[in-house]
Amino acid sequence: MSVPPGVTPKDFSDAIKRWQEALGAEWVFTSDEDIDLYRDPYSPVWHEQEEPIASAAVAPDGVEQIQAVVRIANQYKIPLWTISTGKNLGYGGSAPLLGGSVVLDLKRMNRVLEVNDKNHYALVEPGVSYFDLYRYIQDHKLKVWIDPPDPGWGSPMGNSLERGGGYTPMHDHFDAVCGMEVVLPDGELMRTGMGALPGAKTWQQYKYGFGPYIQGAFSQSSLGIVTKMGVWLYPEPEAYLLGTVMVWKRNDVIPLVEIFTELVSSGTMRGCTTVASPLWLGLPDPELDTLRAGGSVTAMEEYGRRKGIPYWSIPLPFYGPAKVVAAQWEYAKKKCSSIPGVTFQDGPSYRFPLNADDLAKVRDPVQIGIPSLQIFGLLPPQSRGHIGFSPIVPMDGQALIDAFSLFDSIHRELGWGRAVLTTLTSFPRAIVIIDLFPVEKDVEKNRKMRELYRRLIKEAAARGWGEYRTHTTFMGDISNTYSFNNHALRRFHETVKDAVDPNGILSPGKCGIWPKRMRKAEA
Ligand SMILES: Cc1cc2nc3c(=O)[nH]c(=O)nc-3n(C[C@H](O)[C@H](O)[C@H](O)COP(=O)(O)OP(=O)(O)OC[C@H]3O[C@@H](n4cnc5c(N)ncnc54)[C@H](O)[C@@H]3O)c2cc1C
Repeated sequence: MSVPPGVTPKDFSDAIKRWQEALGAEWVFTSDEDIDLYRDPYSPVWHEQEEPIASAAVAPDGVEQIQAVVRIANQYKIPLWTISTGKNLGYGGSAPLLGGSVVLDLKRMNRVLEVNDKNHYALVEPGVSYFDLYRYIQDHKLKVWIDPPDPGWGSPMGNSLERGGGYTPMHDHFDAVCGMEVVLPDGELMRTGMGALPGAKTWQQYKYGFGPYIQGAFSQSSLGIVTKMGVWLYPEPEAYLLGTVMVWKRNDVIPLVEIFTELVSSGTMRGCTTVASPLWLGLPDPELDTLRAGGSVTAMEEYGRRKGIPYWSIPLPFYGPAKVVAAQWEYAKKKCSSIPGVTFQDGPSYRFPLNADDLAKVRDPVQIGIPSLQIFGLLPPQSRGHIGFSPIVPMDGQALIDAFSLFDSIHRELGWGRAVLTTLTSFPRAIVIIDLFPVEKDVEKNRKMRELYRRLIKEAAARGWGEYRTHTTFMGDISNTYSFNNHALRRFHETVKDAVDPNGILSPGKCGIWPKRMRKAEA
């Protein structure tokens, strides 16, 4: 058994004993076999010296047990790394950022505390997965939708705190959070927003409470352990309609994204979608590969027309009353008709509730609030895992052309071949570019991948594009790029961190924020 950095073996074994007394010995894990389960299967530093491996894991079942864990950790200055369902694949899994940390595993706290289908919210504990919440809603015949990300085995808690996303109108998950209960680093229990008012009647309905809005300080954060969270749900709509807009010239993306932005900002289109280039994503074809590697734009466009593959496409999902979604799609088509040569595809569309036969035919269940694991079946069979480089660029067609061509040229320059690039419109007014690359069980390939990733971070930052979320391996690199005025933002985060967590026990290094005793001079 390893020990946390800076902790003596004697202190660590005393702490383990005290955790065993507080939680029951069966909920304190120290064997290599158990610790292995908390390693990150998608780690880009797999089997290297830097791979951060936990020293132990503890699994409390309730707020008081969490408080006991935290108080003991403070006494011995033992770093903890909190997970809810621990499925954070692509971003660190359930492994800590700092090797030797103790994983605080909240999976046992899996109670759905409330679902309200008149006011459209839920109150959940950390270990509730999207599958659990969906099942609860179905069992109780409630008329609300959840908004799952692609894999349904994660949690509203972990995914929302990481500012993850799904597809329905509630797709910006942190935006849908309303009210938290938090164990602070000293073991104190706090409620945010209206939850600070004893007997509050609107904890899950009104986010802001009174005074500074503090909820955001617990997202992508190391300031607290969230033990309850309110999540806004979507009232089951009457209808869903997907309409796809396709344009055939490279520069058509400029007017297309301008129209799309108006549809998003006005609330005409409220789901999350992708502005993608099917020509760039298309199946390997030697002719297309040659064109992608250096053919002219006109030759690519000509190829696309010949093969029936649009240069760009945007599927537009609409949710709401049947007449309204039909009118929204008509409006979108009318606006896009100003682009010469634009084509449209209607459907699929559904009316709710779906009967069992219709349900079985649904191709993309997450689009209509049904959790699934089918995404794993869509990955290449040889895939061992992936991580994504995901910078935020303006919702602007020229920015997309520039970013795609820059990232593709970096991939090629470093010997990776063409980049597989797509986007997500998870946030209004900006676009997330998704540049996915494989993680291998091969130390040398992973080293090269890290070189590529770090180069992308640097080149993107030089153009004013920053990442919205990243794997633990790159959190320091990305934090370094958010450096306005000599890292004023990070210095502020460090001041807050030192004040609320003076022993530096919660998630050291998360998003580049280290407690004072571990802080190094950053670049
Ligand atoms: C194929 C594939 C597809 C994916 N698709 C999506 C997608 O569509 N959308 C998306 O957003 N993600 C996606 N992901 C990434 C990831 O799988 C999900 O975001 C997943 O929901 C995160 O895992 P989790 O919910 O179990 O969170 P956890 O692993 O439990 O937590 C994530 C992090 O949040 C913090 N945290 C967790 N709980 C607490 C707490 N109680 N208090 C304080 N801090 C806490 C910790 O830092 C923790 O490391 C995908 C991954 C893969 C492999």
